[in-house]
Amino acid sequence: MYEELDISLAGDESVSMLKKQVHELAVKDLRPISLQLDKMHPQEVVEKGSPYYEAHRKIKQMGLHRMYTRKEYGGLESTPDEIHVVLEEVAWASMGFGGGLGVDMCCMAIIMLANDIMGGSLDEMVNDILTPWVEDEEGKYHGCIPWLEPEHGSDIILACHLPDEQIAGFGLRAPVKMEKEGDYWVFNGMKAPWTTSGPTATHGAVIVNAPPHESISDATLAFVPFDLEGVRKGPALDKLGMRDEPQGEIIFDNVRVPKEYVIMIPGLWKSLGGSILAQLNSGMGALYTGLARAAFEEALKYARERVQGGKPLIEHDTVKMRLADMFMRVEACRSYSRAAFSYSFQKIFKDIELEFPKGVCYACKVFCTQQALEVASEAIQIHGGYGISKDSVVEKLFRDARMGLIMDGCNRMLTLTAGWSVDESYSLE
Ligand SMILES: Cc1cc2nc3c(=O)[nH]c(=O)nc-3n(C[C@H](O)[C@H](O)[C@H](O)COP(=O)(O)OP(=O)(O)OC[C@H]3O[C@@H](n4cnc5c(N)ncnc54)[C@H](O)[C@@H]3O)c2cc1C
Repeated sequence: MYEELDISLAGDESVSMLKKQVHELAVKDLRPISLQLDKMHPQEVVEKGSPYYEAHRKIKQMGLHRMYTRKEYGGLESTPDEIHVVLEEVAWASMGFGGGLGVDMCCMAIIMLANDIMGGSLDEMVNDILTPWVEDEEGKYHGCIPWLEPEHGSDIILACHLPDEQIAGFGLRAPVKMEKEGDYWVFNGMKAPWTTSGPTATHGAVIVNAPPHESISDATLAFVPFDLEGVRKGPALDKLGMRDEPQGEIIFDNVRVPKEYVIMIPGLWKSLGGSILAQLNSGMGALYTGLARAAFEEALKYARERVQGGKPLIEHDTVKMRLADMFMRVEACRSYSRAAFSYSFQKIFKDIELEFPKGVCYACKVFCTQQALEVASEAIQIHGGYGISKDSVVEKLFRDARMGLIMDGCNRMLTLTAGWSVDESYSLE
């Protein structure tokens, strides 16, 4: 395993042990399954009996999905350092499984946070959805976050950070809408095919447009069990990278959602959604640290084995310098993302403060995904021709790295929101 210069965690035996255990899972199960799924047709990946379910079952058996959940709900209440270490190790094996674990945890964390904000009044959601999910050790349940829509992508990311008057200018085209009918809200419409784990998820924390349906701002958050009548799934998306974690449309066709599963607090979707987006972005920093480290390690291994010019590649000083450059980027990603992750975790999960400057989280995601792409590209270069072969791990890492520049917000859009945040909150006093 990579010997990192991680002084802050060196003396913490429980984190070291956790890291070792998750790394073993990553080496023995997650990486081999991920490589197998990468070569399969997307529809085969989601079919019953696919090794995909075995990977997520292993993650659930270790209880990793419970990390954000507090002890009073049956969770592990892990520290931000523990969660960061786990995300890095899982993504070292598979960016897809890391992303799947991230949305699963954050989907259910929204119930916990909403329950805190609403003074513990969400009993139905907690008992019907959160508790069975926390107790799951077989991979029976998996949450997802269907937020973006075919007609509104970056609009929804930006809307979490803009005043309602400005959002009105985005228009409102074909949203997933809800209408009241007795004790139910009836949902109609379709979410974009980008929802991570959409084809396999059992529940979704959905952003849904509410009456009077005049603007994107007329939205709220709802929890939809996907076994309700009228929920349909589109085909699993055929895509460039992260082929080990499926994405696909969620379609709502007159779905009657109990009113207890809909959070009717005006504007909460923006502050809670924006906060979860910030936490997901800090988490993306951890995930892409894992991917960058995986690419660096593959390059280091190859450079020690491959002989050219009469000696192993690594004995050529220029190759050593290229590896040192990759090493620097991995270390920088880990340091930055661990700081950003702890910061957003403290604000959201400890202080329950949703209106905090989030620029550092978005900037962290932009930085780490960009660095991971550079490291994965250089890893291919160090492998020479073998690097572009489908038999090499770095070829897959490069494709998975490219996904990061779009996932959880296009990097340009996130840089813009980071810029707003820096302007508002950076004091020169
Ligand atoms: C691997 C992966 C996983 C994902 N998982 C999820 C998920 O779980 N749930 C979910 O809801 N979504 C998910 N997404 C969707 C993702 O968040 C969106 O793809 C992303 O936010 C961009 O939206 P879009 O694809 O509609 O592109 P668009 O918004 O159409 O953007 C296209 C281009 O236009 C630029 N652009 C857009 N608006 C503006 C503007 N106002 N000013 C200037 N330039 C602009 C963008 O920077 C981009 O380059 C995922 C995407 C990927 C790749």
